Amino acid sequence: MGTFAISVCIGCGCNDVRACCNEVTAQPCAWIRIDRDARRGVCTECEHMAAQWDAWEYAMQLPM
Ligand SMILES: [Zn+2]
Ligand SMILES: [Zn+2]
Repeated sequence: MGTFAISVCIGCGCNDVRACCNEVTAQPCAWIRIDRDARRGVCTECEHMAAQWDAWEYAMQLPM
């Protein structure tokens, strides 16, 4: 394999090497949804995007 594919948050655009920080806790975000193949995810700062993500994931499972 070799190269590590960087995944990007669909909500705020942060990624594996540049996580965003929570303003209250000052903790860096983590992935709550991640698709390493699609190289995208949803981070803890963008939980409102998780429902959207789940809808997409469901849609992707539908036969074209
Ligand atoms: Zn985010
Ligand atoms: Zn983030």
